[in-house]
Amino acid sequence: MLRDPVCGKRINPNKAHIQIEHEGMLYYLCCPMCQNLFEKDPKKYVKKVNAQRRRKTS
Ligand SMILES: [Zn+2]
Repeated sequence: MLRDPVCGKRINPNKAHIQIEHEGMLYYLCCPMCQNLFEKDPKKYVKKVNAQRRRKTS
């Protein structure tokens, strides 16, 4: 399971609404709304995902 970087929901990549490549990484979005938000400001959501990862590992 992967995390939708916009809403934070866990999603099955096979059932994701869409996958978007940003700076060499693939992000899965659950719905058109999340897609819109991600495309408007991808950096905001990419940062959020990185921050979550950092907190988990430390
Ligand atoms: Zn979502």
